[in-house]
Amino acid sequence: MRDRKRGTVRDLRRGNRAAVLWSLYLSQARSRQELSAATGLSAASVTNVVRELIDEGIIIETGLAESDGGRPRTMLGMNPEYGHVIGVDVGETRTRVELFDLTMTERAKAEYTLDRPAEHDVGVVLGQIASGLAAVLADSDLDEHAILGVGVGVPGIIERRSEVLVHGQTYGWDAVPLGTLLRAHTGLPLRFDNGAKTMGQAELWFGAGRGARNAVMILIGSGVGASLISGGSTYQGATSSAAEFGHIAVAVGGRKCRCGAAGCLEAYVGAAAILDRYGQPTAATDQELALAELIDAASTSPHAAGILDDTARYLGAGIGTLINLFNPERVILGGWAGLQLGARLLPDIRESARQHSLHHLYAATSIVLGELGPGAVALGAATLPMETFLNSSGQ
Ligand SMILES: [Zn+2]
Repeated sequence: MRDRKRGTVRDLRRGNRAAVLWSLYLSQARSRQELSAATGLSAASVTNVVRELIDEGIIIETGLAESDGGRPRTMLGMNPEYGHVIGVDVGETRTRVELFDLTMTERAKAEYTLDRPAEHDVGVVLGQIASGLAAVLADSDLDEHAILGVGVGVPGIIERRSEVLVHGQTYGWDAVPLGTLLRAHTGLPLRFDNGAKTMGQAELWFGAGRGARNAVMILIGSGVGASLISGGSTYQGATSSAAEFGHIAVAVGGRKCRCGAAGCLEAYVGAAAILDRYGQPTAATDQELALAELIDAASTSPHAAGILDDTARYLGAGIGTLINLFNPERVILGGWAGLQLGARLLPDIRESARQHSLHHLYAATSIVLGELGPGAVALGAATLPMETFLNSSGQ
């Protein structure tokens, strides 16, 4: 009986610590009064937890803020130096490795392009991740003990069995045991998720999705992915996959898709497909530059402009389907290609989405660009080990 009581008190204390840490992590800076209002904890509980977390060096006093009529209030925030997290974006055209402090400020990054983007040799990608981990540690002058964990965002479906398996049907990975393979290169704690989901989590917490309860995040690079935010958190399907948006059919019997089916959205609006539809030779050395060239050319070339018009129509039709199915309050377009296309085509994409969805549902949503840039997948991946840290209440 006594043990159970002690356990309950300990659980309560851990819960209070986690509530304060989550609140400070997501808001960046808050006073004790604001923490109390945001967490529902009493002023006395907040004072106790804050004292404990300051003593342990996890949070710090960051300065004073004026308050209405009263004494200036002391602001609190995460201690950036307490620990660090690393996010890895395994993309179709490049591998990004970024190191962040506890306030999610980027402290170092390494990027490697894939020489042959169509071939995602597991050994090559593993080598890039391993080099990247070593590079960001060296650049930031940190050793492994300073790192709380590494999050990895990958294309495709993550299956969590006794080991993590990645099924990247269009990426050329068939049940790749990425966790086991990466374990040979690092002893750091590892977490994995789909890249569209990590981007979605980053935009939800720190970017265009802030405050949204129901949203769809669309990631367009070479291919197309999405993640669903339902009730304020990322929706997971039965086998931890959801929202393979690139492979909904937008043209029955249409263009052949990399997944083997015909008429998928990805066969029209993924960067690889757009460039294929364009069919013009390019001097650009990679897809990112080639797409930028196409977008530039659209000012003078009717053919290029037509390709982009079609891209907006297909993408808008796909978004219209998402709006009809999920009734999101916000649709966020990101990924390197999504951001390039959106900068020019957003009004056309919105118009096509309006034409392809029910009026009442379209009126309830807004379609916007991601705010965190093409690095959002790596930033989101780095939130995975942060999540583990905050849920264990910083211990
Ligand atoms: Zn497909």
